[in-house]
Amino acid sequence: MILTLFGPPGSGKGTQAGTLCRRFHLKHLATGDLLRAEIRARTPLGLEVQAIMARGDLVSDAMVLALVEKRLVNGTTGGTLLDGFPRNLQQLDDFDRSLATRGISMTLAISLRIDDALLIGRLTGRRVCTDCNRSFNVQTHPPEVSGICDDCGGILVQRDDDKEGVIAHRLSEYHAQTRPILGALAERGILVEIDAARPIDEVRNAMFRAVDERRARIGRERA
Ligand code: AMP
Repeated sequence: MILTLFGPPGSGKGTQAGTLCRRFHLKHLATGDLLRAEIRARTPLGLEVQAIMARGDLVSDAMVLALVEKRLVNGTTGGTLLDGFPRNLQQLDDFDRSLATRGISMTLAISLRIDDALLIGRLTGRRVCTDCNRSFNVQTHPPEVSGICDDCGGILVQRDDDKEGVIAHRLSEYHAQTRPILGALAERGILVEIDAARPIDEVRNAMFRAVDERRARIGRERA
């Protein structure tokens, strides 16, 4: 199964992706996390993308496709959950062609829908663990000890691109570049849109239902 998760920054993609992966035995491929790992490790790629990401701009299509292709898995059980990719129509096109060379196609796309006004507060309050990547929110979900991760004791920091000036730019990138993909996927009949302003467990249950229904439909089509 190749599942893609869409949603503007702050819509809860990271949290929900973890739950989906555990439930359906999927490998989580988050291009933003992969790029941040390259920056932390000071690789040539990391040094190249650091300034681009700090501005909230998108890095080159070829670079992210290469990161994804190296890590994609699709077995008879399990598969891959993509989070943050594809991010524009060119990446969708490249990805379709790459999957076709493996004889597969995207199974399901889930889009988390939420108003921009709700996202600004979520993003400016977000703090991320430098060790295990877990997210907290200083207003709505603070850690027990300020600045320290509850899980691993790592240091919590604010991402450069979660600073107020950059957030508006990231949201406009999402609307301009990523939303057009959703129209294309709706036409293929593989898009499910979910209201992400609802409580986390309701969003999670709606996502589980979407995956179960898609798998049942594939089963019926094969029978
Ligand atoms: P995210 O963690 O998904 O919010 O991504 C953080 C940043 O990583 C984005 O603002 C981009 O600079 C970069 N990035 C992540 N995924 C992609 C992608 N598919 N294409 C281009 N840039 C990306």
